[in-house]
Amino acid sequence: MITITPLLALRDNYIWVLHDQHHAVVVDPGEAAPVIEFLQQHNLDLSAILCTHRHHDHIGGISELQDQYCIPVYGCPHPQNPHITHAVAANDTLEVLGVPFRVLELKGHLDDHVGFVSSDSVFCGDILFGAGCGRNFEGSLEQLFDSLKQLEALPDATHVYCAHEYTLMNLRFAMLCDPENATLQQRLIHTIALRADNRPTLPSTIGLEKATNPFLRCNQPEIIETLQARGLQSDEELMVFMALRAWRNGE
Ligand code: ZN
Ligand code: FE
Repeated sequence: MITITPLLALRDNYIWVLHDQHHAVVVDPGEAAPVIEFLQQHNLDLSAILCTHRHHDHIGGISELQDQYCIPVYGCPHPQNPHITHAVAANDTLEVLGVPFRVLELKGHLDDHVGFVSSDSVFCGDILFGAGCGRNFEGSLEQLFDSLKQLEALPDATHVYCAHEYTLMNLRFAMLCDPENATLQQRLIHTIALRADNRPTLPSTIGLEKATNPFLRCNQPEIIETLQARGLQSDEELMVFMALRAWRNGE
């Protein structure tokens, strides 16, 4: 039985810890201190690190953890990320605490971005957020769109473990795009309550994201109409997505 616990790091990052009674695996340790404290508190031995991409808020704690634990670090190698010991690529499989994971190549945020998916959960780094999506720093918007499509194709019940607590902010933007969406309205109310209590809004599910995340709804009439009212001259899904991403950049 695996438990998955979020550790808050830096400003709004989550380091996800997968653990059983004895062992733990962490995803994107942007800082070492919260990980070490959690391991000590729960008497856990660190057995691996999963790394989605090379941004500092995702890898900042790795070298300190490597100093203390002799562990594999799975991810996509890059000159700016010297920590990776086990290179992974699309469709590779690996086992984490006995659970099989498959690697997704998720480009469009950074070129070295990957995700890790099991039968019921996905660690998607900075590609898909609660009610939002990552920014396009490297690669193309087409690649970002394709990455979101890969995530959208996962079963609705899949738990979505994003790397940042951005949900509330994203939902406020989503309401501008899709104001009549009742599921979205409910999610906003629920999220406001969670944040007022300082509780995480994640994981969400693929099903909830498909119902409320405007970036996964670029083929829906409501979203298309909103973007057309802002001057978009197309109803093609990719064009709607690109217009939405550009609008969000300016908000
Ligand atoms: Zn990032
Ligand atoms: Fe990040």
